[in-house]
Amino acid sequence: MYKLNGSVTDETDFFKGNDVYDLIAAYGSPLYVYNEGIIRKRCRELKGLVSYPDFLVQYSAKANTGLAFLQIVKSEGLHVDAMSPGEIYAELEAGFKPEDIFMITNNVSEDEMRFAIDRNILICVDSTEQLRQYGRLNPGSSVAIRFNGGIGAGHHEKVVTAGKKTKFGVNPEYIPEVKKILSEYGLKLAGIQQHIGSLFMDSEPYINGSQAILDIAKQFDDLGFIDFGGGFGIPYKKLSGQPRLDLRECGKRLDEVFYGFAKDYGKKLTFRIEPGRYISAESSVLLTDVHCTKYNGPHKFAGTDIGFNVLVRPAMYDSHHDIEVYTRENRSAKEEEITIVGNICESGDIIAKDRLLPEIKAGDILGILDAGAYGHSMSSNYNNRLRPAEVLIRENGQVVLTRRRDTLEQLLENYIKLDI
Ligand SMILES: *Cc1c(COP(=O)(O)O)cnc(C)c1O
Repeated sequence: MYKLNGSVTDETDFFKGNDVYDLIAAYGSPLYVYNEGIIRKRCRELKGLVSYPDFLVQYSAKANTGLAFLQIVKSEGLHVDAMSPGEIYAELEAGFKPEDIFMITNNVSEDEMRFAIDRNILICVDSTEQLRQYGRLNPGSSVAIRFNGGIGAGHHEKVVTAGKKTKFGVNPEYIPEVKKILSEYGLKLAGIQQHIGSLFMDSEPYINGSQAILDIAKQFDDLGFIDFGGGFGIPYKKLSGQPRLDLRECGKRLDEVFYGFAKDYGKKLTFRIEPGRYISAESSVLLTDVHCTKYNGPHKFAGTDIGFNVLVRPAMYDSHHDIEVYTRENRSAKEEEITIVGNICESGDIIAKDRLLPEIKAGDILGILDAGAYGHSMSSNYNNRLRPAEVLIRENGQVVLTRRRDTLEQLLENYIKLDI
C-alpha cells in the first residue's frame, strides 16, 4: 500500500505494519480500526492531569460503548459514567464494578432509575421532579445532582449543554427546593455535577465554567465530590497543523481551582472529570473503499461505503474529519477539490465537502481519522445497511476482531411478520 497524503498514522504508527488493503479484505468495508496503545495513552494523560490527590477520571461511555474499548479503559483504572441501562449493562459486562459507575440521567423513567438502584449504582438527577422520583424509589440513600450554572460552551449548538436555552441541569434558583426534597426523603447529597458542552481546545471556558458549579457547591456543606463534566477537545484538523489542547496548562489551572476550593471548603472532597471524546476519538481510523468517482458539472465526487449511518458527525454537526488516501499504486499526490460521499439516498450524505485531497480513484481506500468518538456508537441501520465490524490493533501489532459486522438476519430479528 502507498499513502498519498498526511503523516498522522505514520507518526502514531497507527496500523503497526498492517496493510489497510489486508484489513479490508479480511473484515470488509467500512471498518472501524482501533489502536489499543492510543486508548491507553489518552487514559493515562488524563489520569495524570493534576497533582491534586483526590481526582477521578470517569470515561463518558456514550462516546464509544464497545466492550473491548470499555475493558481497556477499565484496565487503565478509570471509572465510567452511564446515560442509560444499556450503557450500565455493557459496563458491568466489561468488568466495571457498580461503585465505578456513575449514572447521569436526563428524563429517565422510574424503571430506568430502578435498574441503576437495584445494582447499587449512584445516580445523578437532572431536575427537582426527578429528585423527588428518586427519593420515592430509594429514600434514605445517596444521590447526586446535575446543576446548570448558566454557562455553556461547545463546538456546535447541538452540543452546548448548559445555559438557559438547554434542557440540562437544575437551575441554582431551585437550591432551597432541592434542600427541602433531600431532607423530606432523607437523602444525602453525595456530589454535584455539571457538563457545559463538548470540544474545548483551550481550557479557558472549562475553567471559567467551573466557577459556576463551585458557587453552587458552597451552598452545600457536606459534599463528597464535585464533577466538572467532560468536553476536552481533540484536534480534528491535524493535517492543517491544528495544535492539541494544552493539557499541562489545563492541569495547572485545574489544580489551582481544586486546591483553592478544597482549602476554603474545609473538607476533603474529590474532583471528577468526565471526558468521552478525548479518550476515544483519536484511537480509531475508519476505513472505506472508494467505489467510484464522477463529475456533476465542475464538482468531483468520490463514492464510498461511509453513509451517515456509519459516521453521522459530518451530517449532524458539520464536523470535519481529516482524510488520508491509500492506494495500490505509487502515483502523484497532486491535489484537487473533491467531495467525499456515502451510499445513502439523501443529498446530505456527505463526509467531506469540497476538500483538497490527492487525486482519488476507484479502488483506493480512504482513512477517516479521529473516528473513535461518536462514530460507531452513533451508527445505525438506516437504509437497512449493516453496521461495520470493529477491529483492534493490539500493542504488539496483532489485529483482533472486537465486533462483528451486523448480519442481514439481525436486521429483521425483532420484526414480526403478519400472517397474510
Ligand atoms: C457527552 C457527555 C460527556 C462527554 O463529553 P465529551 O465531549 O465527549 O468529553 C460528559 N458528561 C456528560 C453528562 C455528557 O452528556
